Amino acid sequence: MNLHSGNPYWLIKNGFLFPYESLQEDTTCDVAVIGGGVTGAIVAHYLQKTGANVIVVDRRHIAMGSTSASTALLQYEIDTSLVDLKKKVGEKNANESYLLCVRAIGELKKIAAKLPLSTNFRLKKSLYIASTIADAKKLEEEFSARKNIGIALKKLTKEQVKKLTGMDAPAALYSDTGAEMDAYRFTHGIFQKLLSKGCRVYDQTEIKEIRELHSGVKLMSANGSIISCKKIVFANGYESLNYLKEKVATLHSTYAIISKPVDKKYLSLLKPMIWETARPYLYIRTTPDSRIIIGGKDEKFYSPKKRDELLIQKSKALQKAFLKRFPSIPFETDFSWTGTFAETKDGLPYIGVSKEYKHAYFALGFGGNGIVFSQIAGEIIAELFSTGKSKNAGLFAFHR
Ligand SMILES: Cc1cc2nc3c(=O)[nH]c(=O)nc-3n(C[C@H](O)[C@H](O)[C@H](O)COP(=O)(O)OP(=O)(O)OC[C@H]3O[C@@H](n4cnc5c(N)ncnc54)[C@H](O)[C@@H]3O)c2cc1C
Repeated sequence: MNLHSGNPYWLIKNGFLFPYESLQEDTTCDVAVIGGGVTGAIVAHYLQKTGANVIVVDRRHIAMGSTSASTALLQYEIDTSLVDLKKKVGEKNANESYLLCVRAIGELKKIAAKLPLSTNFRLKKSLYIASTIADAKKLEEEFSARKNIGIALKKLTKEQVKKLTGMDAPAALYSDTGAEMDAYRFTHGIFQKLLSKGCRVYDQTEIKEIRELHSGVKLMSANGSIISCKKIVFANGYESLNYLKEKVATLHSTYAIISKPVDKKYLSLLKPMIWETARPYLYIRTTPDSRIIIGGKDEKFYSPKKRDELLIQKSKALQKAFLKRFPSIPFETDFSWTGTFAETKDGLPYIGVSKEYKHAYFALGFGGNGIVFSQIAGEIIAELFSTGKSKNAGLFAFHR
């Protein structure tokens, strides 16, 4: 699958960070994680803590799948509002899902703080702008729903939004909890730490065949090496859909651009991460090297050819959209890129076991805040592996 193209900023900025070996011999382990992106890294991190002997394999270079294209806004706010999520999955499950996302940001912070390389992890507030007056009314209800479960946020009026960002918008929700980071460095950081603790990480190692046995699994790699293990984890991003008969997500295309560095004086208007109620939504964040990222302009198709043909047009549209909102900030596009992403019917990820496999767990963090979902997946899968159950597994189960 073609996951992204153009010039994802993190790959350009960081380049090829660390070499990893490819698997050249038959081997055994407790758990084999298929996928060396941010999800595989987080899942391996939690599995390793259980004492499991873990192997991670990736057919590409480490973190060069969707993870290298990720703009890495870490938000507790999922693509489906809490009010709408309650209608889809019930009040209790919706509330618990939102609260797990709030918690996930703190957990990601803890992981980042103990890595051997900096990840540019920064706590950020999150501003959710009403795109229309009708949406401003809906934000009232959304505000109460979130407030009622203890989420720290404020409701901002038109005047307050203007004062904070200079933007014209009828209202907004201003949340305390949020963060941003460099997901590419974060992923390498986890793997470097895990390697030093005995976990094995192989790149350029494609799993071609999965053979489930009575008591475990054999993974056949493209070069003929075999991994024999008790359990496997599908952490192979959007390509994991190829391993499921059930169609749990639809693939779409998304676009992002990053500016040349701007004078720091302009960034005071962009202190929070910003996104909006319109669908598809635009989102904005900054980087520690004083650049601005804007992403969105999504298309509801998966066709790398069509997706890539639109890149120049979409980049211009994103820059225009930014300048319309912030006419006083001199935004000049430096790099642009595009990628595939997936959406589920309710905005929640799929985590845990599927009836299609006896010895596999899935970590499918689909949706706009995939990385937050990866953290939740890591904890649930580690619990399932070590104790056979997890109190949160039902929220994200295939049969929900
Ligand atoms: C442009 C863009 C912007 C985004 N912005 C955000 C954001 O702001 N916040 C957020 O939370 N999320 C965001 N996302 C989503 C986020 O990037 C993804 O949720 C996340 O990167 C998925 O990580 P992953 O490890 O599951 O997948 P990947 O990074 O794709 O890793 C999966 C790996 O599995 C490997 N693999 C697949 N099949 C096999 C096989 N058979 N054998 C061996 N290896 C295999 C692949 O090579 C790949 O490297 C964005 C995505 C895009 C494209």
